[in-house]
Amino acid sequence: MVDKALTQKIIDRLAASKSPALLAHIRPDGDAFGSLLALGHALRDRGQRPSLFVEGGMIPMYQFLPGSELVLDLPAQLPPETDCLVALDTSTRDRLGQNTHSWPQPIDIVIDHHISNPAYGKLNLIVSEIPSTTGVLFELFQQASWKVSAANATCLYTGLTTDTGSFRYRGTNAHTLHAAAQLVELGADPAEIAKQCYLSITHERFALRKMVSNTISIKDNKKSAFLTILPDFYAKTGAKSEDTEGIIEEVASIQGVEVGSLFEFMPDGGLRVSLRSKGKVDVNSIASSFGGGGHKAAAGIRFAKDAEKNRDLVLAAISQSVVAL
Ligand code: AMP
Ligand code: MN
Ligand code: MN
Repeated sequence: MVDKALTQKIIDRLAASKSPALLAHIRPDGDAFGSLLALGHALRDRGQRPSLFVEGGMIPMYQFLPGSELVLDLPAQLPPETDCLVALDTSTRDRLGQNTHSWPQPIDIVIDHHISNPAYGKLNLIVSEIPSTTGVLFELFQQASWKVSAANATCLYTGLTTDTGSFRYRGTNAHTLHAAAQLVELGADPAEIAKQCYLSITHERFALRKMVSNTISIKDNKKSAFLTILPDFYAKTGAKSEDTEGIIEEVASIQGVEVGSLFEFMPDGGLRVSLRSKGKVDVNSIASSFGGGGHKAAAGIRFAKDAEKNRDLVLAAISQSVVAL
């Protein structure tokens, strides 16, 4: 599953770096923060001095992660001492964030699990059979015989539970659950992490969820359904853009609905699309046909303009994909 020779090259490159910079994707989720901090802990425990960056910095929901204060907003330029640039959980170079677009440095190492990742680093460890980037990192730490502290185990487990929807999605297998069990032995607390990730949503996030739920439209003989977010939903509920994480899972939970989608109309006229499948439809291929990407069961697209027209095109592609089911 994991290419040992390639992994060893990455271990050697990481071990040789004094001041690596670690990056994760825009609109970061549990796996983005989990993998940033897990690799951050592993390198710090070895005496290295990693910098951890993500667009917007840490968000309140993931502040419980040990070391969360280490995660900083993307700087205009990389610290000059940076000697290795690592991208985590990020399916395209683009999704590392606006500030990085003008950085001249190439990406040295990509560690990811997105099937659509084009391998934009010098060394690319992309394992789509593992359902989270933290799962890929755990394999790397084990091969390197690097110590995994309880703090590190908490970060690794958080990426694994959030990216598998609490071990519910199709990518979850015996290997995943075995990794989770090892992380619990190393000090991750499943009930506490579940409480922080799933049982601590803010009142604002709850209000946004209710408002978005009300927009549901069921189509294609009840085989697809979609939700809509309009720009004024944030002002009306006090929620922030990060509060949309997880809303889409609700549509896909309806019996018989094979594809769920969510369309967020942005104030700048753009459109953000999230797609989820129960397994029969490959939503990565739908997203890829519009320039997006992701996984077979969870993918996304970003359009810069023509929001309504593009929504209709995506809805038509979804109808096509479920018509024969
Ligand atoms: P989301 O619906 O935002 O949770 O994203 C679902 C999956 O698709 C995640 O694994 C994302 O990394 C990926 N993804 C989302 N948007 C895009 C995009 N515009 N381009 C490539 N991959 C994306
Ligand atoms: Mn992610
Ligand atoms: Mn991920």
